[in-house]
Amino acid sequence: MSFKSLGLSEPLLRAISKKGYEIPSPIQAKAIPPVLEGKDVLASAQTGTGKTAGFTLPLLHLLSENPKEKYRPIRALILTPTRELAAQVYANVKEYSEFLNLRSTVVFGGVNQKPQAAKIRQGVDILVATPGRLIDLENQGLLSLKRVEIFVLDEADRMLDMGFLRDIERVMKLMPDKRQNLMFSATFSKDIKKLAYTILNNPVQVEATPENTAVEIIEQKVYRVAKGKKTGLIIKLISEGNWKQVLVFNRTKHGANKLCKNMISAGISAAAIHGNKSQGARTKALAGFKNGSVRVLVATDIAARGLDIPLLPHVINFELPNISEDYVHRIGRTGRAGASGEAISLVSADETSFLRDIEKLIDMKIDVEVVEGFEPDPNASREPIKQGQGRSQTRSRNSSQRNSGNSKNSNRNQSRRRSDNRG
Ligand code: AMP
Repeated sequence: MSFKSLGLSEPLLRAISKKGYEIPSPIQAKAIPPVLEGKDVLASAQTGTGKTAGFTLPLLHLLSENPKEKYRPIRALILTPTRELAAQVYANVKEYSEFLNLRSTVVFGGVNQKPQAAKIRQGVDILVATPGRLIDLENQGLLSLKRVEIFVLDEADRMLDMGFLRDIERVMKLMPDKRQNLMFSATFSKDIKKLAYTILNNPVQVEATPENTAVEIIEQKVYRVAKGKKTGLIIKLISEGNWKQVLVFNRTKHGANKLCKNMISAGISAAAIHGNKSQGARTKALAGFKNGSVRVLVATDIAARGLDIPLLPHVINFELPNISEDYVHRIGRTGRAGASGEAISLVSADETSFLRDIEKLIDMKIDVEVVEGFEPDPNASREPIKQGQGRSQTRSRNSSQRNSGNSKNSNRNQSRRRSDNRG
């Protein structure tokens, strides 16, 4: 399949080849044709799948086919949850429209609104915006959405996480009823489906998120346990189950080291991999794990990412990740030749909110068990644990870094992001 065969115009094909793209990504191949036909589209796709070009290319094609003379009303609105994503999408719009007679701009909060308003006053065909600033400008009469023909809601799930539902509803009232709608989301909770129902009109559904479906075939289990009894429980599970190759996730480097030591003291061969380990040490640990001399590999999320770890029968979350998407990445490591694997999470009281976020993301309840002698502490606080060193400080949560672990975070992160990014 080529971009040309999708029916995109010559100026767009030139821009695509200038970007160096040779073939459409799956989401592009699926989304571009229905958008070109003028249909509403509901796409399940996350960052990294090429979704931006998936909606931008056909949108530009449609607008350029039918140019407006003289003054330029805003004919396409692309709404994104964060400033970073808005800036990124705008950069894409500019690149893809290089050979077309279309103008675009971006508006988001946190910066002076004057230059944004001035740009809009000069006339733009395409506006990329975050909800807050968009509504501010409209309230001041500095822009009108009355001529919007195409509306794109990008990262709809994140929009809801960040509390933008009301703003989205307000924006919709500012646009004409008759318009084409495209909605992109990495996940499909009930709330997202509800939103899709109110925005979209008889949509074509397309998807490109294999990871979400993997969740359904992996056997998942939660052991509720007192924090101080986790080490004892994990040792019991591994020894009594006689598990030979277990990948264990820890949030912090320090925690990974400590757990590794405790395993070794209990007679279970183990190695840790994390950011503080040299490349040599990591390679050695991984080789040992693959050849069976290391039974348990204890890893942090960052260290595990990008590692060529084979699919395993057992993955254990010694601690739940505070970024829900990481849970999906972690458990995606289980499974053997078509058979499903088992993903176990040891959850203490202070991880309750993380568990709730994860269940929301994967849209299912995970079975809970308690092992005698390892019961949860009824007096323990449910206050979320402080973010661990390793990860949270080394990885900011802006959209440009979300290729591998995106979308839903804990409530705490969400509210932080919201105050950071709200447009
Ligand atoms: P996105 O999911 O839209 O954030 O895109 C992820 C990355 O893939 C971006 O760096 C794009 O420039 C790149 N990309 C998008 N479409 C293609 C394609 N058809 N071939 C190669 N790279 C692409």
